[in-house]
Amino acid sequence: MQVINTIAGIKELKRNLKGTVGFVPTMGYLHAGHIALVKQAKAENDISAVSIFVNPTQFGPKEDFKTYPRDINRDLAMLEPYTDIVFIPADKEMYPAGYNTWVEVNEITDVLEGAVRPGHFKGVTTVVNKLFNIVQPDKAYFGQKDAQQAAVIKKMARDLNMPLEVVVCPTIREPDGLAMSSRNTYLTPEMRKGAPVLYQSLQKAKAMIEAGEKTVADIRREMTSMIIKETLATIEYISFADNETLKEIHTIKPPVLISMAVKFGKTRLIDNIVIK
Ligand code: AMP
Repeated sequence: MQVINTIAGIKELKRNLKGTVGFVPTMGYLHAGHIALVKQAKAENDISAVSIFVNPTQFGPKEDFKTYPRDINRDLAMLEPYTDIVFIPADKEMYPAGYNTWVEVNEITDVLEGAVRPGHFKGVTTVVNKLFNIVQPDKAYFGQKDAQQAAVIKKMARDLNMPLEVVVCPTIREPDGLAMSSRNTYLTPEMRKGAPVLYQSLQKAKAMIEAGEKTVADIRREMTSMIIKETLATIEYISFADNETLKEIHTIKPPVLISMAVKFGKTRLIDNIVIK
């Protein structure tokens, strides 16, 4: 495994490499969800590359950029068995003085996470575009956990004719159903106990739909009543949207993306399922 901190270093390395590259962009503080992406990248390509970069431009001014958990040594130990190249640039390497170019996907970034986190996806698409240009992968791997991000990246790649395939991998969960996330470390033990309610409410929605329920308002009401029983939880949104356009729907018509953001104190958890 080669650890590289500069863009010139990656370019140099790539000049001497043969074979297909599978790439997994991350913000580090890795968990089994990230590792599943890396394993798939390794299985489907000759070379696996991972980036670790807590991208400042995708955090809002009141968000957790400064406190985002970081532990590079632990990350490297986790990556070692599955990874050929790790790219860990400094902020200045990615955004040198005078940096002033942005990549933006319109419309599907206005809803859901984009509505609550203005500018977030502009930061994501810009950094992912830069990382794609630096690493030049054949395939890039993203998690369904961040469903809107995956949809936005797919759209960017398609709209800009990027010469790579975007692969979306399933959400990896804790045994109690909580979607794995670097931010789960922010949860107090009491919050952690309540956090599986996100997935439980999604499973409830799935069961209602399978039983023939079609009215979104009724399903949302059931989910809401489940979640508010957890006194530490505050619902930010529960969305039922067309899985392609991300436009809100009122009557179930698959494929439906059911997604939510729920806050436990200052910690924002997101989760989703797709009803096929
Ligand atoms: P992050 O480090 O949070 O930016 O995540 C890097 C990549 O890992 C993104 O494509 C995420 O969607 C993906 N990811 C994060 N958590 C999970 C999870 N629990 N299961 C699958 N993929 C995940």
